[in-house]
Amino acid sequence: MTSAPARLRLIGLPYDSSSSFLRGAAEGPPAIRAALESSHWNSWSELGQDLAANDVLSDAGDVLLSAGPRARAEIESAVAEVIAGGWRPLALGGDHSVTYPLIRAMSRRYPALTILHLDAHPDLYEEFEGDRFSHACPFARIMEEGLAHRLVQVGIRTMNPPQRRQAQRYGVELIEMRSWEGGVRPRVDGSVYLSVDLDALDPAFAPGVSHREPGGLSVREVLSTIQQLGGTLVGADVVEYNPRQDIGGVTAVVAAKIVKEIAGRMLGEPAGQEKGQG
Ligand code: MN
Ligand code: MN
Repeated sequence: MTSAPARLRLIGLPYDSSSSFLRGAAEGPPAIRAALESSHWNSWSELGQDLAANDVLSDAGDVLLSAGPRARAEIESAVAEVIAGGWRPLALGGDHSVTYPLIRAMSRRYPALTILHLDAHPDLYEEFEGDRFSHACPFARIMEEGLAHRLVQVGIRTMNPPQRRQAQRYGVELIEMRSWEGGVRPRVDGSVYLSVDLDALDPAFAPGVSHREPGGLSVREVLSTIQQLGGTLVGADVVEYNPRQDIGGVTAVVAAKIVKEIAGRMLGEPAGQEKGQG
């Protein structure tokens, strides 16, 4: 089966009003973009795609967002516009609350979406400190509305009884950090959406997040997961970069590296499925 090459579009979502602990994630998108465009590296993904080639990767810029609840509808319609234009959205957060309106837009185009979610936290609270749309809740909203066919969570290391009940209620497939250490890896196919909360990474690699949770994934493990991901990667977000917490901009470069490899995976086949080496 052949199909037209994928066209990707960055879309910045500078929103952090649903963060429960620290502000700052709204300043993430321009910092990630600057790292992406920096001349310290070249424009090629490890999988062999030139992201600077014509027509491969465009940029919708940062969406002008209200500070309150209206932002959700604004995000949903901005992402729907990207999808309607024939692009695969590659969203830059912003706090993780942006993923709920993102998935609302995605699920209309892809009704049997599998979500692969990398995070230290399950983000499954029914509500958090009175807010049903907190960045601690997006995957509860997604699952209760039936917006995903499967939700596979990787890197979790903060599970507690209320969220474990929610995971069971919604049939969430959990690969907690301790099972990852035992060798369990995600298997996905069909239309896949990838949501990367940067706190899935160990804070040694990515200190620039609002909720540092030691004992996480390495950069290499995240990149390998992206490169080997099965199915068709139809959209993605990289969220929770907080420049106020960063040290020397290292986390912005990590975020940009992850964006590059997501783009490379969207444009080509998974690693390990390439034809012979030349
Ligand atoms: Mn999260
Ligand atoms: Mn998190």
